[in-house]
Amino acid sequence: SPLSPNELLNVAAMPDEHPMSGSLFMVVAPSGAGKSTLVNALLAQEPEIKLSISYTTRPPRTKEMNGREYHFTSVEDFRARHKQGEFLEWAEVHGNYYGTSRLAIGEQMQAGTDVLLEIDWQGAQQVKKQFPHAVGIFILPPSIAALEDRLKKRGQDEPSVITRRILAAGGEIAHAPESEYVIINQEFAAALSELTAIVKATRCRFAQQAVRNAYLFAQLGIHANLS
Ligand code: 5GP
Repeated sequence: SPLSPNELLNVAAMPDEHPMSGSLFMVVAPSGAGKSTLVNALLAQEPEIKLSISYTTRPPRTKEMNGREYHFTSVEDFRARHKQGEFLEWAEVHGNYYGTSRLAIGEQMQAGTDVLLEIDWQGAQQVKKQFPHAVGIFILPPSIAALEDRLKKRGQDEPSVITRRILAAGGEIAHAPESEYVIINQEFAAALSELTAIVKATRCRFAQQAVRNAYLFAQLGIHANLS
């Protein structure tokens, strides 16, 4: 049945704080928890989610490509971008700068695309202040030994870098309680299915559904009180 004027008004009156926004996911983990592998598998499975490509001053690893894993850049360029307010969040991690471009995120979220950030705890705290609805997902290794093992087997970092990352793992893990969700990455398939479940559940949140299906909700007479 056609919408009554009141129903149309209700749809149009969705508050600005809830634009046609996708969900914002933050995946946080110590290096060696298998975060990137999990995230890449999720993205392959859920093409609706876009990974935010961060800027970093860290040198590229052999298999990394500029613009794919990161926008690799110099300290000078990073500082200039920071000065211009380009970063939604940024942090120094393991002696390098990392930052999320505000521009790319804003555009995607407004287009209704889900965005995923792979960031450290410092960045996650900054994002949470600006987007309280952002969903934090912490990936834990099944043991410290497994974490060390993964870092060494990756064989893409210098031994001194690996040592630094192992030492830093405890610091990162101390911030696990700040995430809404925790995944223990013992068995890859199980961890991936948990990650997928979190994404799917988030998409079914009332506010998300009401925005995506505004017309249906109005037809059914659901008056969304989004706050
Ligand atoms: P890696 O050098 O192993 O790629 O990343 C090192 C750490 O930096 C990881 O914990 C990763 O999540 C974090 N990181 C990557 N990009 C960003 C970013 O844009 N912002 C913040 N705060 N951390 C990031």
